[in-house]
Amino acid sequence: MTNKYDTIIIGSGLGGLLSGVILSRKGHKVLIIEKNHQIGGSLQSFRRKNCDFSTGMHYVGSLDEGQTLNKLFKYFNLFDGIKYHRLDETGFDIFNIGGKEYKFPFGFDNFKKKMNEYFPDESEAIDAYVNEIQRTIKTQDIYLLKNQNQKIENINKYLTLNTWDFVKSITDNQRLQQVLTALNFVYAGEKSKSPLYIHALVNNHFMSSSYRIVGSTTQVADKLADQILKNGGKIVKNNAVKNLVIENDSITAVETCDGSTFIGKNIISNVHPATTMDLIAKDSIKKSFRARMKRKENTISAFAVHIVMKENTFKYRNHNYNFYKGEDVWYASNYDSNKWPEHYFMHCSVPKDGGEYTNTLGLLTHMLYEEVEQWAELPINKRGKDYKDFKTKKAKELIELATLQFPELKDNIIDFTASTPLTYKDYLGSPKGSMYGTMRDCNNPVGSYISPRTKVNNLYFTGQNINLHGILGVSLSAILTCGEFVGTNSILKEINDEK
Ligand SMILES: Cc1cc2nc3c(=O)[nH]c(=O)nc-3n(C[C@H](O)[C@H](O)[C@H](O)COP(=O)(O)OP(=O)(O)OC[C@H]3O[C@@H](n4cnc5c(N)ncnc54)[C@H](O)[C@@H]3O)c2cc1C
Repeated sequence: MTNKYDTIIIGSGLGGLLSGVILSRKGHKVLIIEKNHQIGGSLQSFRRKNCDFSTGMHYVGSLDEGQTLNKLFKYFNLFDGIKYHRLDETGFDIFNIGGKEYKFPFGFDNFKKKMNEYFPDESEAIDAYVNEIQRTIKTQDIYLLKNQNQKIENINKYLTLNTWDFVKSITDNQRLQQVLTALNFVYAGEKSKSPLYIHALVNNHFMSSSYRIVGSTTQVADKLADQILKNGGKIVKNNAVKNLVIENDSITAVETCDGSTFIGKNIISNVHPATTMDLIAKDSIKKSFRARMKRKENTISAFAVHIVMKENTFKYRNHNYNFYKGEDVWYASNYDSNKWPEHYFMHCSVPKDGGEYTNTLGLLTHMLYEEVEQWAELPINKRGKDYKDFKTKKAKELIELATLQFPELKDNIIDFTASTPLTYKDYLGSPKGSMYGTMRDCNNPVGSYISPRTKVNNLYFTGQNINLHGILGVSLSAILTCGEFVGTNSILKEINDEK
């Protein structure tokens, strides 16, 4: 009897935890099963030299009063005990493209003004850009937390419009085309595929206002877990789901690596859909469904260096710094292993004492899984000297590139460690360590869409592969997934009624 639940959630990433909060509040008896010893998925952090490093959440957008994430955080009690630091409103992201710096300020009016300063002859194109982005956002009801009357199946031009084609259509100025699309690293943009609505939503999210979480991102996972436990839910850690038993197109049992069996009326997988298919025996589900989930194209993976600095040597920057060695900011589309690294995204942690200097910072860029694939089958922490040497060599190359802009990095690094595509694959279960899960493709909007409902009667998906990645996308995915049980509009009403 004790192993019976209303809803079993596989994976305690942000999507799994948010779904757990919503459903446990609505009276569901919820169980979350997590394979790692730490909950949170991309919200996990680690400690080195007495410093906390967050692994997959460096800044969040639209957190000013009245904005979308602000409303969602109130609903999920994420202002309770967690501090957020507002980034520089005159330039929360700085882009260095071909040697010139461009700042992105908060707000579209300020953005227009700034772009007109950089490109005084391009006011018509800048207006056209901002108008189209704002028009696109207005079509996306769920992002505005408006009642759901839209169906994704009703493909409209916003799903099929290509970001890069749109930007090229409004100006011939090649530098402006690059600057307008410079934020594409945070959605792993691909020139030939990235839909305009993704570009619009992500830009709008960060340009509305951007914040850093003060301290580790684990606080967010812990705060959500506390609520689930208070509502009578249960979280099992360090125990991977290994098999979903299916009879007559429904899951009858969830089996885990320690030999336990759990029974749930409904199962929500917070794990990548392709990885979820590996948990189901062959022939127990429709071949076409499995093939479709396995075929999904994924966004490129990442390489990160986590750095500890000597005290008082690196001034805290209240912005992210995005460096592009060349002229083209679409790094995932132009990735060349022989030229790596050609880009980095640098973020610092907010000094705990409110002081002038930070003692941790991170450098993040793309990396192809194929570069580390040769070590994939070896056990974690036993991948040998070659792998360690590869990580160190790549980390040093990335640090060297950053040292060009930040010479104080040169002699003041106490310690560093690196994450590769294997790290993301091992810790998140995303195929090939994909950074943001499945790719949205404007050439195939229906084929690259994944619904919360699946072809298995009581199996649902949630997380970054549904809808959109990132803190905003995953929060909205949780609402859509839980909406299948308790009604999306009723959850949206509660969020909008929250004071
Ligand atoms: C390097 C990096 C930087 C990022 N920076 C930002 C940022 O600054 N801002 C932002 O908004 N977003 C950022 N993102 C994106 C954001 O972190 C993700 O979109 C989001 O956290 C994904 O949440 P999720 O719930 O989909 O799943 P995940 O975080 O992927 O969690 C999936 C969970 O499932 C578990 N699991 C897998 N298999 C099993 C199994 N068999 N049994 C049990 N459990 C299992 C995993 O261990 C994991 O805990 C970043 C991502 C990366 C990789």
